Amino acid sequence: MSENILNAEEPKKSLNFIEAAVVNDLATGKNDGRVQTRFPPEPNGYLHIGHAKAICIDFGIAKEYGGICNLRFDDTNPVKEDVEYVDSIMEDIKWLGYDWPNVYYASDYFGKLWDFAVQLIKEGKAYIDEQPAEEIARQKGTPTQPGVNSPYRGRPIEESLDLFHKMNEGVFEEGSMVLRAKIDMASPNMHFRDPIIYRIIKHPHHRTGTTWQAYPMYDFAHGQCDYFEGVTHSICTLEFEVHRPLYDWFIDQLATDNYRPHQYEFNKLQFTYTILSKRNLRRMVEEKILSGWDDPRMPTLVGFRRRGYTPESIHNLIDRIGYTKYDGVNDISLLEYAVREDLNKKSTRVSAVLDPVKLVITNYPEGQTEVMEAQNNPEDETAGSHNILFSRELFIERDDFMEDAPKKYFRLTPGNEVRLKNAYIIKCTGCKKDEDGNVTEVYAEYDPQTRSGMPESGRKVKGTIHWVSTEDCFDAEVRLYDRLFIVENPADDGRDLTELLNPDSLRVLTGCKMESYLKDAKAGDKFQFQRTGYFCVDKDTTDNNMVFNRTVSLKDSWAKTKDK
Ligand code: ATP
Ligand code: MG
Repeated sequence: MSENILNAEEPKKSLNFIEAAVVNDLATGKNDGRVQTRFPPEPNGYLHIGHAKAICIDFGIAKEYGGICNLRFDDTNPVKEDVEYVDSIMEDIKWLGYDWPNVYYASDYFGKLWDFAVQLIKEGKAYIDEQPAEEIARQKGTPTQPGVNSPYRGRPIEESLDLFHKMNEGVFEEGSMVLRAKIDMASPNMHFRDPIIYRIIKHPHHRTGTTWQAYPMYDFAHGQCDYFEGVTHSICTLEFEVHRPLYDWFIDQLATDNYRPHQYEFNKLQFTYTILSKRNLRRMVEEKILSGWDDPRMPTLVGFRRRGYTPESIHNLIDRIGYTKYDGVNDISLLEYAVREDLNKKSTRVSAVLDPVKLVITNYPEGQTEVMEAQNNPEDETAGSHNILFSRELFIERDDFMEDAPKKYFRLTPGNEVRLKNAYIIKCTGCKKDEDGNVTEVYAEYDPQTRSGMPESGRKVKGTIHWVSTEDCFDAEVRLYDRLFIVENPADDGRDLTELLNPDSLRVLTGCKMESYLKDAKAGDKFQFQRTGYFCVDKDTTDNNMVFNRTVSLKDSWAKTKDK
């Protein structure tokens, strides 16, 4: 959509620093005016909301500037990777609305990377080090103190070459030796102090099987893969900024022409009350703290999808947060706000009573029913309406009635009037209780002149409550989700994450009363339960038991608690 940028009539959107760099490169004709990005997930877990931020810029830049974005699985560590993850990653990217012209795997380049490593050895720029990892780390020095040369640094080229081949043939044990680039043990950039570029891993790889037993390190693979593919703008997160000089160094050794990929780094997405690291997310699945990668409390895209979040809400959120060079933690309420805003525009309003008590309209004829019209979405005129049934006996929320109510309670209390949504104004006349004092039935009288849609009687009531007819409803299970952690920054807390869990992150309600209209809803369908929140049908729904997930409450209840 490059016309967009060139069209002077379009209001100018302010560009982030990466877009600005792309515009500049296009203007100067760098890399023949090509724009090529990649999204490089490691297939060792499901994608989370942080990855969505990377996906939106990688695919977004390509789309905006007439380029391409390939999907590249960064599968250089055979131990943690799995095909299950590959499939889910593809599904999640598509859910966000993107597609890729090519799928590559870093393992496709194992041969080329091997040849390049051999080239470096032959040029005297890499050597086999037989010291244990701890010793190598100890010799690295500190940012202010130069490192110490390995005793193997001067090893003859032929010897390194021979050992490198044997490393890959399985002759040596894991950890017994590594290949290191020979750069500069006194460099102020620690990454230049003879970085390890190959190690032995004796674990079959999900794509290449047992062909390789020597595997490239991330730093040795990533930039070169970019180069092999023709990537022009290699976008990643800020922690890789200090790796960039090494990224450039390797490519300078490899390149035979002027083409160069360039790495850009932006700030990671982080949210309060949330942990975004695959290691910890995997742990919550493996230790069964949550029901799976798609548990609706997970910050994964599968979890979000199951919870009822929409791709549009995620795009809106990420647009609003933007891309900068400064790390920071975003308030989780921004995400909740974005979801609410999108669902408000799209979801059909229905009645569901989560904690029911019976209401009897004592002056409404027994056996009589009426069909009332319920508007599907006041935000969307085209959404139409559906019918609901009114009858003498209804269910209302237990907390919409109070026998002894404080002054500002505008719902049902003896002597008080409220409107039943889409129906009549009623006046509460009392209630019945069991021996323990629990309310079992609430009584009211209706005013036939106040049916919704009738000319305004001039009567104003302060409260409107929702209801379902006992004659036209069914029971369902409702799962109420809340924040998973009780502390604002669980990742930095220091305590084990199991100590930081919100015990109320899931509450399961059964026997909730749903209006019949919901009976045909399918897994994934989204609704606003009036006055309660946004809900969707869960995949655990069976023929006899419908299950709804609360996506998000109608209002930010956390902000309210803070104000109190
Ligand atoms: P994690 O730390 O959660 O395991 P990762 O960085 O190891 O994530 P990768 O599969 O390597 O996960 O990431 C693929 C891409 O997504 C990378 O470009 C990475 O920088 C980006 N990414 C990962 N986490 C975030 C985040 N929180 N915010 C923005 N981008 C992220
Ligand atoms: Mg990673």
